[in-house]
Amino acid sequence: KTLTVDLGERSYPIWIGQGLLSKLPAYLQTLGITSSQTLLVVTDDHVGALYLEPVLKGLQRAGFRVFSYSVPAGEQAKSLSYYEQIITYALEHKLDRQSVILALGGGVVGDLAGFVASTYMRGIPFVQLPTTLLAHDSSVGGKVAINHPLGKNMIGSFHQPLAVIYDTATLSTLPEREVACGFAEVLKHGFIWDEAFVDWLEENANPCRALQEPFLSEALYRACHIKSQVVSQDEKETGLRAILNFGHTFGHAFEALGHYRDFTHGEAVAIGMAVAAHVSEAVYGQQGLAERVTRLLSTYGLPVEWHTLPWSFEQVLEKMYTDKKVMAGRLRLVLLERMGRAVIADHVAETTLRAVWSLPFQNQL
Ligand code: NAD
Ligand code: ZN
Repeated sequence: KTLTVDLGERSYPIWIGQGLLSKLPAYLQTLGITSSQTLLVVTDDHVGALYLEPVLKGLQRAGFRVFSYSVPAGEQAKSLSYYEQIITYALEHKLDRQSVILALGGGVVGDLAGFVASTYMRGIPFVQLPTTLLAHDSSVGGKVAINHPLGKNMIGSFHQPLAVIYDTATLSTLPEREVACGFAEVLKHGFIWDEAFVDWLEENANPCRALQEPFLSEALYRACHIKSQVVSQDEKETGLRAILNFGHTFGHAFEALGHYRDFTHGEAVAIGMAVAAHVSEAVYGQQGLAERVTRLLSTYGLPVEWHTLPWSFEQVLEKMYTDKKVMAGRLRLVLLERMGRAVIADHVAETTLRAVWSLPFQNQL
């Protein structure tokens, strides 16, 4: 299946399907990449152990000069230190401005390798080869970044890939928790943009089927389609693109309060979407909206309950005010005016938030 991210001369294809990595050299040729260009595959040690060797062999057989660099798996690889190490490696191996970086892995590798590509010799092309479900979100849209000790994604840029080549066969080795985490963003794309997709996710909701074809490719295709439509309309996030942060203002606060250990990103965002859906219902009077959101999240194995969190409303609110998306001291929340239609609200009273926060759990469901 093919999609296009429409960005004028920076438009690019998203290819989704089983076994695409085995045809990687042909896809690169389609993109106009020739064997005169040196390739650098960046990966992490989990993904590398599973998929790097066949990728390298295939590229070498096709006549490419190819190097690889593997970082430790996990968020800590998105650091200035690994950034510098990869740049050093690229310089030592004489990568030039025609060279191409291939990001083989999840969102961590995509963000790190993409940021290297955006700055190496003032920017070289890169291709996203996502291997996690969550990476349907991170590989599309051109936001690349590394972390600073004082904050996540604080050093970054916009650098669109040449293509996203999504081999869904790699998803079969994903740990269960990562699958659920990825579905948080799949569901998010439905909630904010496409009620018909939400209906479809409800009809097909069966966690055992979550990794089966054709369900999986169809879910990824529809979620990528939504992401690319939003990005096409607002590449640099001057407006609309902010709706992709549904559940994230709360979610980021939970992640930070839990020191990025207690939850995965998807779990924190799932609870955040549950809170935001209840706030939406309170503000826009959409009966049953929150129940639909929480039920679907739970079906896909995600947490939705905030009462058991060990933090007070005041602690969460304070963290939300330090989010980089807060502008001029006003809390901007992404809410659902109705299912499938997100809006940015900067008028929500603190008392409304507090009232939702204190709802007894049975009223949430
Ligand atoms: P990740 O890249 O750390 O992958 C999760 C874990 O799964 C890692 O241990 C990894 O080694 C392992 N893994 C990856 N693919 C595998 C496979 N096929 N089989 C077995 N194990 C595999 O995490 P993620 O959830 O993919 O991405 C999270 C990152 O994405 C965060 O840093 C977040 O900031 C970033 N992100 C970026 C954007 C963006 O727009 N740029 C959007 C959302 C998230
Ligand atoms: Zn997210």
